[in-house]
Amino acid sequence: MDYDAIIIGAGVAGLASAVKLSSKGKKILLIEKLPVPGGFVTTFSRKGFVFESALHCVDGLQEKGEVRKILGEYGIDKKVDFIDLADFSRVIYPEYDFTSNFKRDEFVAYLKKEFSPEEAGIDKLFLAIDKFYHQVDWYKRSNLPLPLKLICASFMCPMIIRTSMITFEEFLNEFVKDIKLKGIITNIWNFVGLPPARISAFYFLVVFTGYHYVPTAYIRGSSSALFKAIVEKIKENGSEVKFNTQVSRIVTEGGKTVKAVVTDKGEVFTAKSIISNANPLDTFDKLIDNSTVKEAYRKKFSGLEKSISAFQIYLGLKTTAKNLGMSHYMYSINISYDHEEDLRSCFSADYEQRAFALVDHSRLDPNLAPVGKGTLLIMVLDSYTNWKDLSPQDYKAKKEQVARKLIERCEKYLPGLSANIEVMEIATPKTMERYGSSPEGAIYGFAQTPAQSVLRRTGYCTQVRGLYLTGAWTQPGAGVHACFVSGVDAADTVLRYLK
Ligand SMILES: Cc1cc2nc3c(=O)[nH]c(=O)nc-3n(C[C@H](O)[C@H](O)[C@H](O)COP(=O)(O)OP(=O)(O)OC[C@H]3O[C@@H](n4cnc5c(N)ncnc54)[C@H](O)[C@@H]3O)c2cc1C
Repeated sequence: MDYDAIIIGAGVAGLASAVKLSSKGKKILLIEKLPVPGGFVTTFSRKGFVFESALHCVDGLQEKGEVRKILGEYGIDKKVDFIDLADFSRVIYPEYDFTSNFKRDEFVAYLKKEFSPEEAGIDKLFLAIDKFYHQVDWYKRSNLPLPLKLICASFMCPMIIRTSMITFEEFLNEFVKDIKLKGIITNIWNFVGLPPARISAFYFLVVFTGYHYVPTAYIRGSSSALFKAIVEKIKENGSEVKFNTQVSRIVTEGGKTVKAVVTDKGEVFTAKSIISNANPLDTFDKLIDNSTVKEAYRKKFSGLEKSISAFQIYLGLKTTAKNLGMSHYMYSINISYDHEEDLRSCFSADYEQRAFALVDHSRLDPNLAPVGKGTLLIMVLDSYTNWKDLSPQDYKAKKEQVARKLIERCEKYLPGLSANIEVMEIATPKTMERYGSSPEGAIYGFAQTPAQSVLRRTGYCTQVRGLYLTGAWTQPGAGVHACFVSGVDAADTVLRYLK
Protein backbone atom coordinates (compact mmCIF):
# COMPACT_ATOMS: atom_id res chain seq x y z
CA MET A 1 0.00 0.00 0.00
CA ASP A 2 1.46 3.33 -1.03
CA TYR A 3 0.39 6.08 1.41
CA ASP A 4 0.28 9.74 0.43
CA ALA A 5 2.08 10.47 3.69
CA ILE A 6 3.43 8.61 6.69
CA ILE A 7 3.68 10.63 9.87
CA ILE A 8 6.20 9.51 12.45
CA GLY A 9 4.98 10.42 15.95
CA ALA A 10 1.57 11.37 17.32
CA GLY A 11 2.73 14.40 19.29
CA VAL A 12 0.65 17.56 18.95
CA ALA A 13 2.21 18.50 15.59
CA GLY A 14 2.02 14.95 14.18
CA LEU A 15 -1.68 14.79 15.06
CA ALA A 16 -2.33 18.23 13.53
CA SER A 17 -0.57 17.21 10.30
CA ALA A 18 -2.48 13.91 10.19
CA VAL A 19 -5.90 15.45 10.71
CA LYS A 20 -5.24 18.14 8.10
CA LEU A 21 -3.91 15.78 5.43
CA SER A 22 -6.54 13.10 6.01
CA SER A 23 -9.30 15.74 5.91
CA LYS A 24 -7.97 16.80 2.51
CA GLY A 25 -8.57 13.24 1.27
CA LYS A 26 -4.97 12.07 1.56
CA LYS A 27 -4.29 8.52 2.69
CA ILE A 28 -2.24 8.77 5.85
CA LEU A 29 -0.50 6.35 8.18
CA LEU A 30 0.31 7.83 11.58
CA ILE A 31 2.82 5.73 13.55
CA GLU A 32 3.42 6.28 17.27
CA LYS A 33 5.73 4.28 19.48
CA LEU A 34 3.78 4.99 22.69
CA PRO A 35 0.39 3.39 23.42
CA VAL A 36 -1.40 6.77 23.39
CA PRO A 37 -1.36 10.02 21.38
CA GLY A 38 -0.09 13.41 22.60
CA GLY A 39 3.68 12.88 23.00
CA PHE A 40 4.83 15.04 25.91
CA VAL A 41 1.23 16.06 26.53
CA THR A 42 -0.20 12.90 27.96
CA THR A 43 -2.01 11.88 31.13
CA PHE A 44 -1.55 8.99 33.51
CA SER A 45 -3.69 7.60 36.31
CA ARG A 46 -2.78 6.44 39.79
CA LYS A 47 -5.33 5.27 42.40
CA GLY A 48 -8.16 7.28 40.85
CA PHE A 49 -6.10 10.46 40.24
CA VAL A 50 -5.54 11.61 36.64
CA PHE A 51 -2.35 13.62 36.10
CA GLU A 52 -1.45 15.92 33.21
CA SER A 53 2.13 14.97 32.41
CA ALA A 54 3.26 18.34 31.05
CA LEU A 55 0.57 20.90 30.49
CA HIS A 56 0.10 23.85 32.75
CA CYS A 57 -1.81 26.07 30.38
CA VAL A 58 -2.41 26.25 26.63
CA ASP A 59 -2.95 29.61 24.97
CA GLY A 60 -5.22 29.91 21.94
CA LEU A 61 -7.83 27.46 23.31
CA GLN A 62 -10.52 30.10 23.93
CA GLU A 63 -13.46 30.45 21.56
CA LYS A 64 -12.08 32.10 18.38
CA GLY A 65 -8.54 31.33 19.57
CA GLU A 66 -6.17 29.95 16.92
CA VAL A 67 -6.08 26.36 18.26
CA ARG A 68 -9.86 26.31 18.64
CA LYS A 69 -10.21 27.52 15.03
CA ILE A 70 -7.94 24.73 13.79
CA LEU A 71 -10.02 22.20 15.72
CA GLY A 72 -13.20 23.84 14.42
CA GLU A 73 -12.18 23.22 10.80
CA TYR A 74 -12.56 19.49 11.44
CA GLY A 75 -15.53 19.67 13.85
CA ILE A 76 -13.30 18.48 16.70
CA ASP A 77 -14.23 21.50 18.83
CA LYS A 78 -17.76 20.05 19.02
CA LYS A 79 -16.50 16.72 20.36
CA VAL A 80 -14.61 18.23 23.28
CA ASP A 81 -15.86 20.25 26.21
CA PHE A 82 -13.78 23.34 27.04
CA ILE A 83 -13.52 24.96 30.46
CA ASP A 84 -12.88 28.71 30.25
CA LEU A 85 -10.20 29.89 32.68
CA ALA A 86 -11.04 32.79 35.01
CA ASP A 87 -7.38 33.69 35.36
CA PHE A 88 -3.96 32.53 34.37
CA SER A 89 -1.88 32.51 37.53
CA ARG A 90 -1.15 33.98 40.92
CA VAL A 91 2.31 35.48 40.56
CA ILE A 92 4.41 35.73 43.71
CA TYR A 93 7.70 37.64 44.13
CA PRO A 94 9.37 38.49 47.44
CA GLU A 95 7.66 41.93 47.49
CA TYR A 96 4.80 41.51 45.01
CA ASP A 97 1.80 39.22 44.79
CA PHE A 98 -0.83 39.62 42.06
CA THR A 99 -3.25 37.76 39.81
CA SER A 100 -2.40 37.53 36.14
CA ASN A 101 -5.79 37.30 34.46
CA PHE A 102 -5.40 37.68 30.65
CA LYS A 103 -6.45 41.35 30.93
CA ARG A 104 -3.79 43.56 29.40
CA ASP A 105 -5.21 46.78 30.92
CA GLU A 106 -5.36 45.39 34.45
CA PHE A 107 -1.77 44.18 34.19
CA VAL A 108 -0.66 47.62 32.94
CA ALA A 109 -2.59 49.35 35.76
CA TYR A 110 -0.96 47.07 38.34
CA LEU A 111 2.54 47.74 36.99
CA LYS A 112 1.92 51.51 36.89
CA LYS A 113 0.63 51.50 40.47
CA GLU A 114 3.62 49.54 41.81
CA PHE A 115 6.26 51.27 39.66
CA SER A 116 4.87 54.80 39.29
CA PRO A 117 8.20 56.48 38.31
CA GLU A 118 8.19 54.20 35.23
CA GLU A 119 4.58 54.99 34.27
CA ALA A 120 5.37 56.66 30.92
CA GLY A 121 7.74 53.85 29.91
CA ILE A 122 5.17 51.19 30.82
CA ASP A 123 2.57 52.91 28.63
CA LYS A 124 4.99 53.12 25.70
CA LEU A 125 6.07 49.51 26.19
CA PHE A 126 2.51 48.23 26.01
CA LEU A 127 1.69 50.41 23.00
CA ALA A 128 4.67 48.81 21.25
CA ILE A 129 3.42 45.34 22.28
CA ASP A 130 -0.06 46.26 20.97
CA LYS A 131 1.51 47.09 17.61
CA PHE A 132 3.34 43.78 17.61
CA TYR A 133 0.12 41.94 18.48
CA HIS A 134 -1.84 43.60 15.65
CA GLN A 135 0.93 43.00 13.11
CA VAL A 136 1.13 39.31 14.00
CA ASP A 137 -2.65 39.16 13.71
CA TRP A 138 -2.49 40.80 10.23
CA TYR A 139 0.20 38.32 9.17
CA LYS A 140 -1.83 35.31 10.36
CA ARG A 141 -5.08 36.51 8.76
CA SER A 142 -3.57 37.55 5.45
CA ASN A 143 -4.52 35.20 2.62
CA LEU A 144 -1.85 36.52 0.25
CA PRO A 145 0.40 33.93 -1.41
CA LEU A 146 3.49 33.39 0.77
CA PRO A 147 6.08 35.23 -1.39
CA LEU A 148 3.78 38.28 -1.66
CA LYS A 149 2.95 38.08 2.03
CA LEU A 150 6.64 38.13 2.94
CA ILE A 151 7.22 41.19 0.72
CA CYS A 152 4.22 43.00 2.24
CA ALA A 153 5.33 42.01 5.75
CA SER A 154 8.52 44.03 5.31
CA PHE A 155 6.49 47.26 5.41
CA MET A 156 3.23 46.12 7.07
CA CYS A 157 4.93 44.34 9.97
CA PRO A 158 8.12 46.19 10.98
CA MET A 159 7.68 45.05 14.62
CA ILE A 160 7.77 41.41 13.58
CA ILE A 161 11.01 41.93 11.70
CA ARG A 162 12.63 44.00 14.44
CA THR A 163 11.67 41.70 17.31
CA SER A 164 12.89 38.66 15.41
CA MET A 165 16.43 40.08 15.49
CA ILE A 166 16.81 41.07 19.15
CA THR A 167 16.34 39.60 22.62
CA PHE A 168 13.38 40.53 24.76
CA GLU A 169 15.70 42.33 27.17
CA GLU A 170 16.96 44.56 24.37
CA PHE A 171 13.34 45.32 23.51
CA LEU A 172 12.40 45.98 27.15
CA ASN A 173 15.41 48.24 27.81
CA GLU A 174 14.06 50.76 25.32
CA PHE A 175 11.12 51.46 27.65
CA VAL A 176 11.79 50.59 31.31
CA LYS A 177 14.76 50.40 33.69
CA ASP A 178 13.70 49.04 37.07
CA ILE A 179 15.13 45.53 37.57
CA LYS A 180 12.14 44.37 39.62
CA LEU A 181 9.67 45.70 37.07
CA LYS A 182 11.52 43.91 34.28
CA GLY A 183 11.57 40.69 36.33
CA ILE A 184 7.81 40.84 36.89
CA ILE A 185 7.00 41.61 33.24
CA THR A 186 9.02 38.55 32.22
CA ASN A 187 7.68 36.19 34.88
CA ILE A 188 6.48 33.74 32.21
CA TRP A 189 10.11 33.12 31.25
CA ASN A 190 9.77 29.53 32.50
CA PHE A 191 7.12 28.99 29.79
CA VAL A 192 9.77 29.67 27.15
CA GLY A 193 12.83 28.28 28.95
CA LEU A 194 15.19 31.23 28.49
CA PRO A 195 15.56 34.47 30.46
CA PRO A 196 14.85 37.83 28.75
CA ALA A 197 18.55 38.43 28.04
CA ARG A 198 18.63 35.29 25.84
CA ILE A 199 15.15 34.78 24.40
CA SER A 200 14.08 36.02 20.98
CA ALA A 201 11.86 39.08 21.52
CA PHE A 202 9.51 37.80 18.81
CA TYR A 203 8.96 34.40 20.41
CA PHE A 204 8.65 35.84 23.92
CA LEU A 205 6.05 38.37 22.75
CA VAL A 206 3.98 35.73 21.00
CA VAL A 207 3.76 33.74 24.24
CA PHE A 208 3.39 36.90 26.37
CA THR A 209 0.42 38.21 24.37
CA GLY A 210 -1.03 34.68 24.37
CA TYR A 211 -1.33 34.85 28.18
CA HIS A 212 -1.65 38.59 28.90
CA TYR A 213 -3.94 39.78 26.10
CA VAL A 214 -6.54 37.04 25.58
CA PRO A 215 -8.13 34.39 27.79
CA THR A 216 -7.77 30.69 27.24
CA ALA A 217 -9.33 27.39 28.29
CA TYR A 218 -8.67 23.86 29.54
CA ILE A 219 -10.23 20.61 28.32
CA ARG A 220 -12.78 18.70 30.37
CA GLY A 221 -11.45 15.20 30.97
CA SER A 222 -7.83 16.44 30.42
CA SER A 223 -5.74 16.87 27.27
CA SER A 224 -6.24 13.16 26.49
CA ALA A 225 -9.91 13.83 25.64
CA LEU A 226 -8.77 16.24 22.92
CA PHE A 227 -6.19 13.86 21.41
CA LYS A 228 -8.64 10.97 21.48
CA ALA A 229 -11.10 13.09 19.47
CA ILE A 230 -8.37 13.98 16.94
CA VAL A 231 -7.42 10.32 16.47
CA GLU A 232 -11.10 9.41 15.95
CA LYS A 233 -11.34 12.11 13.27
CA ILE A 234 -8.24 10.83 11.46
CA LYS A 235 -9.76 7.33 11.40
CA GLU A 236 -13.17 8.67 10.29
CA ASN A 237 -11.32 10.29 7.38
CA GLY A 238 -10.25 6.80 6.29
CA SER A 239 -6.64 7.01 7.44
CA GLU A 240 -4.78 4.68 9.79
CA VAL A 241 -3.15 5.13 13.18
CA LYS A 242 -0.78 2.59 14.71
CA PHE A 243 0.25 2.84 18.38
CA ASN A 244 2.96 0.79 20.14
CA THR A 245 4.89 0.86 16.87
CA GLN A 246 8.28 2.49 16.49
CA VAL A 247 9.72 3.61 13.17
CA SER A 248 13.27 2.29 13.14
CA ARG A 249 14.34 3.46 9.67
CA ILE A 250 13.42 5.92 6.94
CA VAL A 251 14.26 4.35 3.58
CA THR A 252 15.36 6.70 0.80
CA GLU A 253 16.49 6.36 -2.80
CA GLY A 254 20.17 7.17 -2.31
CA GLY A 255 19.38 9.89 0.24
CA LYS A 256 17.58 11.91 -2.45
CA THR A 257 13.89 10.96 -2.16
CA VAL A 258 11.87 9.18 0.53
CA LYS A 259 10.48 5.75 -0.23
CA ALA A 260 9.31 3.96 2.91
CA VAL A 261 9.61 3.45 6.64
CA VAL A 262 10.56 0.26 8.45
CA THR A 263 9.10 -0.37 11.90
CA ASP A 264 10.53 -2.20 14.91
CA LYS A 265 8.20 -5.09 13.98
CA GLY A 266 9.88 -5.38 10.59
CA GLU A 267 6.90 -4.01 8.66
CA VAL A 268 7.67 -1.87 5.60
CA PHE A 269 5.27 0.90 4.57
CA THR A 270 5.85 2.88 1.39
CA ALA A 271 4.77 6.48 0.94
CA LYS A 272 5.12 9.48 -1.36
CA SER A 273 6.03 11.69 1.59
CA ILE A 274 7.03 11.40 5.24
CA ILE A 275 6.56 13.93 8.03
CA SER A 276 8.73 13.33 11.08
CA ASN A 277 7.37 14.59 14.39
CA ALA A 278 10.29 12.78 16.06
CA ASN A 279 12.97 15.32 16.98
CA PRO A 280 15.23 16.24 14.03
CA LEU A 281 18.38 14.95 15.74
CA ASP A 282 16.94 11.43 15.97
CA THR A 283 15.33 11.73 12.53
CA PHE A 284 18.70 12.24 10.89
CA ASP A 285 21.00 10.45 13.31
CA LYS A 286 18.95 7.31 14.00
CA LEU A 287 16.25 7.01 11.32
CA ILE A 288 17.53 8.12 7.93
CA ASP A 289 19.31 5.38 5.99
CA ASN A 290 21.81 7.52 4.10
CA SER A 291 25.20 8.32 5.64
CA THR A 292 25.83 11.46 3.56
CA VAL A 293 22.54 12.99 4.66
CA LYS A 294 23.23 11.85 8.25
CA GLU A 295 26.59 13.62 8.25
CA ALA A 296 25.26 16.83 6.64
CA TYR A 297 22.59 17.14 9.33
CA ARG A 298 24.92 16.12 12.14
CA LYS A 299 27.06 19.13 11.18
CA LYS A 300 24.00 21.38 10.85
CA PHE A 301 22.56 20.46 14.27
CA SER A 302 25.70 19.94 16.35
CA GLY A 303 26.16 23.68 16.98
CA LEU A 304 22.54 24.33 17.95
CA GLU A 305 21.57 24.93 21.56
CA LYS A 306 18.87 22.76 23.13
CA SER A 307 16.31 24.13 25.56
CA ILE A 308 16.32 23.45 29.28
CA SER A 309 14.60 20.44 30.90
CA ALA A 310 12.33 20.15 33.96
CA PHE A 311 11.76 18.32 37.24
CA GLN A 312 8.13 17.65 38.11
CA ILE A 313 6.28 16.17 41.08
CA TYR A 314 2.75 14.82 40.60
CA LEU A 315 0.79 14.64 43.85
CA GLY A 316 -2.56 13.01 44.56
CA LEU A 317 -3.87 14.71 47.71
CA LYS A 318 -6.22 13.46 50.44
CA THR A 319 -7.93 16.85 50.21
CA THR A 320 -7.98 19.58 47.57
CA ALA A 321 -5.18 22.10 47.15
CA LYS A 322 -7.92 24.74 47.57
CA ASN A 323 -8.63 23.35 51.05
CA LEU A 324 -4.94 23.76 51.82
CA GLY A 325 -5.19 27.46 50.90
CA MET A 326 -4.40 27.51 47.17
CA SER A 327 -6.30 30.54 45.86
CA HIS A 328 -5.81 30.03 42.09
CA TYR A 329 -5.36 26.98 39.87
CA MET A 330 -1.78 28.05 39.16
CA TYR A 331 0.96 29.73 41.24
CA SER A 332 4.19 31.08 39.80
CA ILE A 333 6.61 31.49 42.70
CA ASN A 334 9.75 33.54 42.18
CA ILE A 335 12.69 34.09 44.50
CA SER A 336 14.66 36.45 42.30
CA TYR A 337 13.77 39.23 39.84
CA ASP A 338 16.84 38.34 37.80
CA HIS A 339 15.79 35.43 35.59
CA GLU A 340 19.34 35.11 34.29
CA GLU A 341 20.24 34.13 37.86
CA ASP A 342 17.20 31.81 37.88
CA LEU A 343 18.50 30.02 34.79
CA ARG A 344 21.97 29.70 36.34
CA SER A 345 20.42 28.10 39.41
CA CYS A 346 18.89 25.41 37.15
CA PHE A 347 22.43 24.20 36.47
CA SER A 348 23.31 24.02 40.18
CA ALA A 349 22.33 21.34 42.64
CA ASP A 350 20.61 24.00 44.74
CA TYR A 351 16.84 23.53 44.64
CA GLU A 352 16.35 26.05 47.46
CA GLN A 353 16.57 29.10 45.19
CA ARG A 354 14.69 27.82 42.14
CA ALA A 355 11.57 29.55 40.89
CA PHE A 356 8.74 27.02 40.76
CA ALA A 357 5.17 26.62 39.60
CA LEU A 358 2.20 24.86 41.19
CA VAL A 359 -0.76 23.69 39.12
CA ASP A 360 -4.03 22.24 40.38
CA HIS A 361 -5.77 20.76 37.33
CA SER A 362 -8.44 19.17 39.51
CA ARG A 363 -9.65 22.64 40.50
CA LEU A 364 -10.60 23.13 36.83
CA ASP A 365 -12.00 19.63 36.43
CA PRO A 366 -12.82 17.91 39.76
CA ASN A 367 -13.32 14.59 37.90
CA LEU A 368 -9.53 14.30 37.69
CA ALA A 369 -9.47 13.22 41.35
CA PRO A 370 -11.65 11.06 43.62
CA VAL A 371 -14.43 13.00 45.36
CA GLY A 372 -13.07 15.46 47.95
CA LYS A 373 -9.48 14.92 46.82
CA GLY A 374 -7.24 16.82 44.42
CA THR A 375 -4.15 16.78 42.24
CA LEU A 376 -1.13 19.08 42.45
CA LEU A 377 1.74 19.45 39.99
CA ILE A 378 5.00 21.03 41.18
CA MET A 379 7.39 22.10 38.42
CA VAL A 380 10.90 23.56 38.34
CA LEU A 381 13.07 24.03 35.29
CA ASP A 382 16.14 21.82 35.61
CA SER A 383 19.28 20.87 33.75
CA TYR A 384 19.92 17.41 32.35
CA THR A 385 23.50 17.75 33.65
CA ASN A 386 22.18 17.41 37.23
CA TRP A 387 20.93 13.88 36.47
CA LYS A 388 22.83 12.32 33.61
CA ASP A 389 25.71 10.48 35.27
CA LEU A 390 24.09 9.08 38.42
CA SER A 391 24.04 5.41 39.36
CA PRO A 392 20.51 3.93 39.67
CA GLN A 393 20.73 4.13 43.48
CA ASP A 394 22.01 7.72 43.51
CA TYR A 395 19.41 8.71 40.92
CA LYS A 396 16.57 7.30 43.03
CA ALA A 397 17.90 8.87 46.23
CA LYS A 398 18.41 12.28 44.59
CA LYS A 399 14.94 12.19 43.05
CA GLU A 400 13.37 11.66 46.46
CA GLN A 401 15.60 14.20 48.17
CA VAL A 402 14.80 16.94 45.62
CA ALA A 403 11.08 16.12 45.80
CA ARG A 404 11.18 16.39 49.62
CA LYS A 405 12.96 19.75 49.40
CA LEU A 406 10.43 21.18 46.95
CA ILE A 407 7.44 19.88 48.90
CA GLU A 408 8.93 21.45 52.04
CA ARG A 409 9.17 24.78 50.17
CA CYS A 410 5.53 24.44 49.07
CA GLU A 411 4.45 24.16 52.72
CA LYS A 412 4.94 27.94 53.00
CA TYR A 413 2.06 28.42 50.52
CA LEU A 414 0.05 25.25 51.25
CA PRO A 415 0.49 24.44 54.96
CA GLY A 416 -0.20 20.78 55.70
CA LEU A 417 0.70 19.64 52.17
CA SER A 418 3.13 16.88 53.23
CA ALA A 419 0.60 15.32 55.60
CA ASN A 420 -1.99 15.16 52.81
CA ILE A 421 -0.03 13.31 50.15
CA GLU A 422 -1.69 10.06 49.06
CA VAL A 423 0.13 9.46 45.75
CA MET A 424 3.44 10.79 44.46
CA GLU A 425 5.19 10.36 41.09
CA ILE A 426 8.35 12.17 40.08
CA ALA A 427 9.72 13.03 36.63
CA THR A 428 13.30 14.22 36.09
CA PRO A 429 15.10 15.40 32.94
CA LYS A 430 15.96 11.70 32.40
CA THR A 431 12.22 10.92 32.34
CA MET A 432 11.68 13.70 29.77
CA GLU A 433 14.47 12.19 27.68
CA ARG A 434 13.12 8.64 27.89
CA TYR A 435 9.38 9.22 27.75
CA GLY A 436 9.42 12.29 25.51
CA SER A 437 12.17 10.89 23.23
CA SER A 438 13.83 14.25 23.67
CA PRO A 439 17.64 14.60 23.60
CA GLU A 440 18.91 15.72 27.02
CA GLY A 441 15.28 15.94 28.14
CA ALA A 442 14.87 19.29 26.33
CA ILE A 443 11.27 20.34 26.93
CA TYR A 444 11.08 23.13 24.34
CA GLY A 445 13.13 21.76 21.42
CA PHE A 446 15.97 23.99 20.22
CA ALA A 447 16.36 27.02 22.50
CA GLN A 448 14.52 30.08 21.15
CA THR A 449 17.48 32.46 20.93
CA PRO A 450 17.28 35.08 18.14
CA ALA A 451 19.76 32.93 16.16
CA GLN A 452 17.43 29.89 16.39
CA SER A 453 14.09 31.59 16.08
CA VAL A 454 11.56 32.73 13.45
CA LEU A 455 13.02 32.30 9.92
CA ARG A 456 16.33 31.07 11.37
CA ARG A 457 14.59 28.19 13.13
CA THR A 458 14.77 24.70 11.62
CA GLY A 459 12.13 24.63 8.88
CA TYR A 460 9.75 21.93 7.65
CA CYS A 461 11.60 21.09 4.42
CA THR A 462 14.74 18.95 4.36
CA GLN A 463 17.30 18.18 1.69
CA VAL A 464 15.61 14.81 1.08
CA ARG A 465 12.67 15.16 -1.33
CA GLY A 466 9.42 14.19 0.34
CA LEU A 467 10.84 14.30 3.89
CA TYR A 468 9.44 16.99 6.17
CA LEU A 469 9.84 17.91 9.83
CA THR A 470 7.29 19.22 12.30
CA GLY A 471 6.99 19.89 16.05
CA ALA A 472 8.61 21.85 18.83
CA TRP A 473 12.12 21.69 17.34
CA THR A 474 10.96 23.30 14.12
CA GLN A 475 9.07 26.46 13.22
CA PRO A 476 7.45 28.22 15.00
CA GLY A 477 8.58 26.36 18.14
CA ALA A 478 7.50 24.63 21.33
CA GLY A 479 4.18 24.87 23.14
CA VAL A 480 0.91 23.20 22.25
CA HIS A 481 -0.40 26.23 20.33
CA ALA A 482 2.82 26.55 18.31
CA CYS A 483 2.90 22.79 17.62
CA PHE A 484 -0.67 22.85 16.25
CA VAL A 485 0.47 25.62 13.90
CA SER A 486 3.62 23.68 13.03
CA GLY A 487 1.63 20.53 12.18
CA VAL A 488 -0.86 22.39 10.00
CA ASP A 489 1.87 24.36 8.18
CA ALA A 490 3.92 21.20 7.59
CA ALA A 491 0.79 19.50 6.19
CA ASP A 492 0.24 22.46 3.83
CA THR A 493 3.83 22.11 2.64
CA VAL A 494 3.24 18.41 1.98
CA LEU A 495 0.00 19.14 0.12
CA ARG A 496 1.94 21.45 -2.21
CA TYR A 497 4.56 18.73 -2.69
CA LEU A 498 1.97 16.05 -3.46
CA LYS A 499 0.39 18.32 -6.09
C1 LIG B 1 7.32 19.41 31.47
C2 LIG B 1 6.72 20.13 30.31
C3 LIG B 1 5.83 21.18 30.54
C4 LIG B 1 5.25 21.85 29.45
N1 LIG B 1 4.29 22.79 29.70
C5 LIG B 1 3.62 23.34 28.66
C6 LIG B 1 2.51 24.20 28.88
O1 LIG B 1 2.10 24.45 29.99
N2 LIG B 1 1.89 24.73 27.79
C7 LIG B 1 2.28 24.45 26.51
O2 LIG B 1 1.66 24.95 25.56
N3 LIG B 1 3.33 23.63 26.28
C8 LIG B 1 4.00 23.07 27.31
N4 LIG B 1 5.05 22.22 27.09
C9 LIG B 1 5.56 22.09 25.72
C10 LIG B 1 4.71 21.18 24.88
O3 LIG B 1 4.28 20.09 25.64
C11 LIG B 1 5.55 20.69 23.68
O4 LIG B 1 6.15 21.79 23.02
C12 LIG B 1 4.70 19.96 22.67
O5 LIG B 1 3.83 19.04 23.29
C13 LIG B 1 5.63 19.21 21.71
O6 LIG B 1 4.87 18.59 20.71
P1 LIG B 1 5.52 17.92 19.44
O7 LIG B 1 4.53 17.96 18.35
O8 LIG B 1 6.85 18.53 19.17
O9 LIG B 1 5.68 16.40 19.81
P2 LIG B 1 6.32 15.56 21.00
O10 LIG B 1 5.54 15.78 22.22
O11 LIG B 1 7.79 15.72 21.05
O12 LIG B 1 5.96 14.12 20.47
C14 LIG B 1 6.69 13.44 19.48
C15 LIG B 1 6.10 12.06 19.37
O13 LIG B 1 6.85 11.30 18.44
C16 LIG B 1 6.97 9.97 18.93
N5 LIG B 1 8.13 9.35 18.29
C17 LIG B 1 9.42 9.77 18.37
N6 LIG B 1 10.21 8.94 17.66
C18 LIG B 1 9.40 8.00 17.12
C19 LIG B 1 9.64 6.87 16.28
N7 LIG B 1 10.86 6.57 15.85
N8 LIG B 1 8.58 6.10 15.93
C20 LIG B 1 7.33 6.41 16.35
N9 LIG B 1 7.05 7.47 17.15
C21 LIG B 1 8.07 8.25 17.52
C22 LIG B 1 7.13 10.17 20.42
O14 LIG B 1 6.84 8.97 21.14
C23 LIG B 1 6.13 11.28 20.68
O15 LIG B 1 4.86 10.80 20.97
C24 LIG B 1 5.62 21.51 28.15
C25 LIG B 1 6.51 20.46 27.92
C26 LIG B 1 7.03 19.76 28.99
C27 LIG B 1 7.91 18.58 28.74
